[in-house]
Amino acid sequence: MRSEVSIIGAGTAGLIAAKRLGELGIEATVYDQKRRLGIPVRASGILSISGLSTLGIDYSGCVTNSLVGANVHAAGHVMRIRSKRPVAYVLDRKRLNDACHDEAVANGAAVIGSRRIYGAELDRLAGNGVVIGADGAVSAVASHFGMGASPGMVLTWKAEYEVEALEDGIVELFFDNAAYRGLFAWLCPNSRDLLEVGIGVDSRYGNARKSFSKFIEHSEVKRILGGRRPVSEGGFLIPTGMRSLIARDSPGVLLVGDAAGQVKPTTGGGIIFGGNAAIMAAQSVKNHLDGSGKLSDYSSQFMRRYGLDLAMHSAINKAYSSVGTGFMGRAIDVLNALGVDGFLGEYGDMDRPSLMLKRFFLRNLSV
Ligand SMILES: Cc1cc2nc3c(=O)[nH]c(=O)nc-3n(C[C@H](O)[C@H](O)[C@H](O)COP(=O)(O)OP(=O)(O)OC[C@H]3O[C@@H](n4cnc5c(N)ncnc54)[C@H](O)[C@@H]3O)c2cc1C
Repeated sequence: MRSEVSIIGAGTAGLIAAKRLGELGIEATVYDQKRRLGIPVRASGILSISGLSTLGIDYSGCVTNSLVGANVHAAGHVMRIRSKRPVAYVLDRKRLNDACHDEAVANGAAVIGSRRIYGAELDRLAGNGVVIGADGAVSAVASHFGMGASPGMVLTWKAEYEVEALEDGIVELFFDNAAYRGLFAWLCPNSRDLLEVGIGVDSRYGNARKSFSKFIEHSEVKRILGGRRPVSEGGFLIPTGMRSLIARDSPGVLLVGDAAGQVKPTTGGGIIFGGNAAIMAAQSVKNHLDGSGKLSDYSSQFMRRYGLDLAMHSAINKAYSSVGTGFMGRAIDVLNALGVDGFLGEYGDMDRPSLMLKRFFLRNLSV
């Protein structure tokens, strides 16, 4: 019998895996519980331009805004990080999902909606070949095949308002460990006249909905929103940390994207790491099918490429989550005085802090 490749979840990670498999000559079947894929897309998308270029997806029709910097706030102190050129795009997530879908289908994938896969059906699909779990933070594939629990979760609440941003092209980030420990609150100009307001809090320390309600009562935020009602809002989960196992040889199961926990703990961003993991997973499936490698090679390859960056993101997140907000405000002043704002503007890398340091040392140590 011909070996089948079944992908559970038609989010960006699952669809990028399907597209890459098609390019490698393997036609995968993607299942999703939703009837209309990509709707509702419960997240915004700020993606680094450098990271986007690694996904191999034509995202040109999905860009709604360009970002050149961020203002980082804590206890009334601000660090202003500016780049000379756009470093990130805000993408329409539905359009991005549609682009991934169309490219997967153009490369031979079959995408089947309204099909929730769990339990015995997972065993059947794994018995027929390889299963790729791309089924998000609360992964049925990971639980069914005993691939470890997610080490932590951030609860988020976000809403969009028809309001102009304070400064176009700039994201405002607010840190306050007393109110929303574990991540931050943000104001992001999704487009010129659509402002996203969001908050993320470690599930051990708070309730995102309550923290959000308090945050929008903050005098400055209240003034910006000017009493308007949100045009959309909702609460979502972000995994923070990788599961202990992301690949099994027997039965053949791989996890990609949020299902694996391939998310930056500093920001909750998972599309770039998850998409790149999906490309690596596809290659491991190809190697497994032609006998030149094992499925579990995927795990070591992913950690070789991204392990240091994920460890650095995790250390930064632990550092800012463990100090008082007043201390963080004072730290911002010290960092500004040391020129860290300029350093981040020039060398900053939203995804890969290891490359940021490498670029800095290469440029400054070379004569
Ligand atoms: C508020 C918020 C803001 C964010 N902002 C950013 C950002 O700016 N930049 C960034 O990079 N990331 C961001 N993220 C993270 C990003 O949304 C995720 O990392 C990304 O969506 C993960 O993609 P995925 O394909 O792994 O999983 P998902 O997008 O969660 O897709 C999983 C799919 O699996 C399907 N599914 C689940 N279970 C089953 C089942 N049993 N059977 C069949 N189908 C199933 C679901 O219907 C879904 O379509 C944000 C997340 C949140 C919550």
